[in-house]
Amino acid sequence: MIGLKDINKTYPGAVPLHVLKGINLEIDKGELVSIMGASGSGKSTLLNILGILDTYDTGEYHLDGVLIKNLSENRAAELRNRMIGFVFQSFNLIGYKNALENVALPLFYQGVSRKKRNAMAMEQLERMGLADRAHHLPGELSGGQKQRVAIARSLITNPSIILADEPTGALDSKTSKDVMQVFRDLNSEGMTIVIVTHDPGVGQATGRVIRIADGIIQPS
Ligand code: ADP
Ligand code: MG
Repeated sequence: MIGLKDINKTYPGAVPLHVLKGINLEIDKGELVSIMGASGSGKSTLLNILGILDTYDTGEYHLDGVLIKNLSENRAAELRNRMIGFVFQSFNLIGYKNALENVALPLFYQGVSRKKRNAMAMEQLERMGLADRAHHLPGELSGGQKQRVAIARSLITNPSIILADEPTGALDSKTSKDVMQVFRDLNSEGMTIVIVTHDPGVGQATGRVIRIADGIIQPS
């Protein structure tokens, strides 16, 4: 599903920062993997490259057989919207829209009718055990519920892969375990999932832990 060959990334500036120094990594379809490393080690940079939210300087990234390199903005957005679901530490829900509307939002941008997108969003909320919270605003939900709404939103476009950046970073340990169980259940249904985390407990709940330090993947 994912193949990275000698990926390099430098953030330019007065003092350029060479963050990724030759990342080689393969992730198969159906894997649940975590990427661990110290703060500032380049985990989010790597995940953003995987999600076609950021570009790299040299190397090659293949996503499901497609070379992700020198893409136009439109092509990048098209691949991203079709193939990737994102989950973030801070949930990134819209505060004035209820849970159902938040989950349905990606379909709004795809031009799906209101009736159809609401039905599909309700299905995903049911899957997350949140049907009874569909008409609540994010501010009326617990942290774990908010993250499950965000996971429902990430699933609504039927992505090939879920990328999650510190998805339990804002949650207590009990709620973190619940959210990890959601990811494990999705993975057992076949979803490919990559989770960036600095929490060893989260790492333990995944099938493979990838460690990044000094700009490269550490041998396991
Ligand atoms: P992590 O997610 O592991 O904490 P990041 O990938 O966010 O690490 O950041 C890696 C390094 O790159 C850090 O030193 C960070 O300050 C720097 N960095 C991240 N994004 C940018 C950017 N847009 N411009 C310049 N430096 C950045
Ligand atoms: Mg980060």
